[in-house]
Amino acid sequence: MTIKNIIREQIRHQANFACEFCGVTETDTGGQLTIDHFQPISQQGDDNIENLLYCCIRCNQ
Ligand SMILES: [Zn+2]
Repeated sequence: MTIKNIIREQIRHQANFACEFCGVTETDTGGQLTIDHFQPISQQGDDNIENLLYCCIRCNQ
């Protein structure tokens, strides 16, 4: 899955650099978190910013 860097930056800012599920921050994890699809691609989801969430690796799995 490739998300454009500019989209990734927008999502990071929107989420205040923290996981949108559990609230863990980049400072807590010591690195960037991951981008997840709210609606999976396999279920007609897309790469629009409204369909993307910033979340930590644990919540992404
Ligand atoms: Zn999380």
